[in-house]
Amino acid sequence: MSDVTPAQAPRFEPLPADFSGAPAAAEESVLALWRSEDTFAAVQRARSGGEAFVFWEGPPTANGKPGIHHVLARTLKDTVCRWQSMLGKRVERKAGWDTHGLPVELEVEKQLKISGKPQIEAYGVAQFNAKCRESVWTYKDEWERLSERIGYWLDYANPYVTYDATYVDSVWYVLARMHRANLVYRGKKVLPFCGRCGTGLSSHELGQPGVYKDIPDPSVYVRFVLAEQAGPERESLLAWTTTPWTLPSNVALAVHPEREYVRARVALPVPKGAAKGSAGHEILWVAAERAKAALGEHEELGRKRGSELVGTAYVPVFDVAVPEVEPGAWKPDAAGSFKVYGAEYVTVEDGTGIVHQAPSYGADDWEVARRNRLVVRQAVGAEGRLLCDIAGAPEGAKFGPAVRGTFFKDADKALAKDLKNRGLMFKDSEETHSYPHCWRCSTPLFYYAAPAWFVRTTALKERMLEQNRRIRWVPGEVGSARFGEWLENNVDWNISRDRYWGTPLPFWTCGSCEHERAVEGAGELARLSGKLPEGFDFHKPSVDTVTLPCEKCGGTMRRTNAVLDCWFDSGAMPYAQHGFPHVAGSAEKLRDQFPASYICEGLDQTRGWFYTLHAIGAFMTLEHPELGAGPAYSTCLVNGLVLDKDGVKMSKRLGNIVNPWEAIAKHGVDAVRWYLVGSAAPWLPKRFDPAALADVQRGLFGTLANSYRFFQEYARIDRFDPADVRIPLVAARPEIDRWLVSRTQSLVADVRRRFTDYDLAGGARAIETFVVDELSNWYIRRNRRRFWKGESGADKLAAFATLHGALRAVSLLMAPLAPFTAELLWRRLEPGRGSVHAQLAPVADERLLAPELERGVEVVQRVVTMGRALREKVGHKVRQPLRALHVRSSDTSAL
Ligand SMILES: [Zn+2]
Ligand SMILES: [Zn+2]
Repeated sequence: MSDVTPAQAPRFEPLPADFSGAPAAAEESVLALWRSEDTFAAVQRARSGGEAFVFWEGPPTANGKPGIHHVLARTLKDTVCRWQSMLGKRVERKAGWDTHGLPVELEVEKQLKISGKPQIEAYGVAQFNAKCRESVWTYKDEWERLSERIGYWLDYANPYVTYDATYVDSVWYVLARMHRANLVYRGKKVLPFCGRCGTGLSSHELGQPGVYKDIPDPSVYVRFVLAEQAGPERESLLAWTTTPWTLPSNVALAVHPEREYVRARVALPVPKGAAKGSAGHEILWVAAERAKAALGEHEELGRKRGSELVGTAYVPVFDVAVPEVEPGAWKPDAAGSFKVYGAEYVTVEDGTGIVHQAPSYGADDWEVARRNRLVVRQAVGAEGRLLCDIAGAPEGAKFGPAVRGTFFKDADKALAKDLKNRGLMFKDSEETHSYPHCWRCSTPLFYYAAPAWFVRTTALKERMLEQNRRIRWVPGEVGSARFGEWLENNVDWNISRDRYWGTPLPFWTCGSCEHERAVEGAGELARLSGKLPEGFDFHKPSVDTVTLPCEKCGGTMRRTNAVLDCWFDSGAMPYAQHGFPHVAGSAEKLRDQFPASYICEGLDQTRGWFYTLHAIGAFMTLEHPELGAGPAYSTCLVNGLVLDKDGVKMSKRLGNIVNPWEAIAKHGVDAVRWYLVGSAAPWLPKRFDPAALADVQRGLFGTLANSYRFFQEYARIDRFDPADVRIPLVAARPEIDRWLVSRTQSLVADVRRRFTDYDLAGGARAIETFVVDELSNWYIRRNRRRFWKGESGADKLAAFATLHGALRAVSLLMAPLAPFTAELLWRRLEPGRGSVHAQLAPVADERLLAPELERGVEVVQRVVTMGRALREKVGHKVRQPLRALHVRSSDTSAL
């Protein structure tokens, strides 16, 4: 830091000439100063003995460019960290990078112009993963450059990287401990599945924004003809579905056992002009409540309870040999196929109250199949494509056939047409539905029974709920409503992904006896396997070459093929960033840096990082009681979306994306920071309006610069020295000085309380009001003459000292939010004292508070404002003198 002593330093230097016009240039000069002084490191050193305020950086992926919303999130993080540092706390600010997962693989697939798993395998997994490892750093420089430019102080020299060996080693430890605690299990589960990516998605991935899109879906009513016909008119059960592609995999129908079903006689459709009923009639079964809506005009012949229909056999709608799969959890009995079963989940809200069952493609269907030991047919495989030929497309049709290889969504039309041709379609239409798509590649998802690994988070539910009550959410309702409800409805976490670039699951299973074992880290793996291969890498395919002898039967144990959900990586960062427990000293480090005092990310992370940190924390605090019984983080500040100026979500398609660099170049980053944080509570959606941003720049920053200019011009002429012993004590200064001193102290108390309380917008507004309305428009405007006058003396010294004190306090208070301007001001007001960011936050001197004086001036200000408004109303010019002004008040103390 600067070694200039206060006595030698030139005092009250002018601001850079272009400060108001082009603040970006002045800010660049501050960056250069910080770089040359290594100010960040110096501040960190100065606080090294302080009490820890623990901040965790939610790791971004550097394979996409940072946008304006990142500026908001990073400003919120930075402001709180700077503030806590000014309170004397030690705030370690370790950078982090999220480097694994599907997003990275997708980028590389695009780069290599390949798509899907077979092509990746053909390219070679080792080379593919090497490309992934490179690709994650595509925009690293851009991220670091933007972070530096916006003043986000972060330790980029020593980041945690989720693909690093020490990191993976640590994640293995967490997983192995969970496995040992019987919280990890292998099962087949019906999951939302992406055929393109070839992997299941967890429920929190399904909660990502943009997953549900409105698309037209077929809506079909299909006749399931009874195997035993009672009379001459054809009798069928009528079922409704929006997924015709699941019909070839049908094995059963479900009815609600307690509901009433009607046997209805319906006229068959007739050619145009023919008499109704002339084509004959048919008999259909539907739930009583649905008869009118589903059938229209009908004659009720009788009723039965759902339970009485159970066991009724019907003819399969597609007479095709569909592949069957082993469900694992039960031994299927083919005799149970194509019959009616009772199921409580069936509703009569829509459709017919009769639900077609394809166990492989629905969680409820799977449950019905499990209970009744049904066969599981899979006409659609993991890639989302038909595994067998079912129906051709008629000649001249605008749609393709439903044959082996057809994408499931593309098969619907041919299947519907086929049912129509065979007289099995009662009616069909198209309806718009909200349908889930892959959050990364936008392919329509489908539910699919796939093998998967799970963490039994449901076993931790009560603990997660209890720990959540101890988190301070800002705003509170995110914790009680959004996050609390999410935890209430917790389902087990599917942690496996059948992909390539990720933390490999550390689970080895025996080929002979199915014995399972989890490995805690590379050390244990070496011990168990005898020796790790030369150049061992945790990643695929290297890790898959390591086999272990089975301790139960002597057979060979191989690693399960899957990699880990990358959300688990980031959720394990509290431990893995230190390499806990394998790295020397990591246990002490973890204890010092756990739990987090503060984290801050977007609202969408309630189902992302906030959740995975919380879930893993609920387990790790059980496993390691030395970490305390509380949640992984104590305070969570949530930030909302940044919209364009009309309140529309920014998107490439609409071309309304704000380039952060352009906004910064035009207005300076302090104005951008101030505008983003000060304009509304962080969690509310924000409109990014360049006009309003320009107002902040002119209003607050322009006014502040003018106030300083006014002060410094006269202070230099008069060689004002704030340490001058002749400066009158505050009590001896004129009333208006005592008022500004009191207001300054009140501001200090107010901002201190608000910033500490995470009310950053409130703190920002308090500073802004003070600078514009009180310091500039009231105090300076009314006291100009005292600075102008020729003779120096007590009164002038009092005015200088009062104004200097106010500017000094403002520069300190605004430092967390406007770090550049604060630095420019501070170094001029208090030269030789180093960076404003190394200072301690001011504390209000209560002896200087004069509440009655403040109240009195407030009344006068109100009268002036009202007076101005009246003049405007009646058309009096501001400078035109008035004969009299009468003020009436119900508050006598105000007068
Ligand atoms: Zn996908
Ligand atoms: Zn074995």
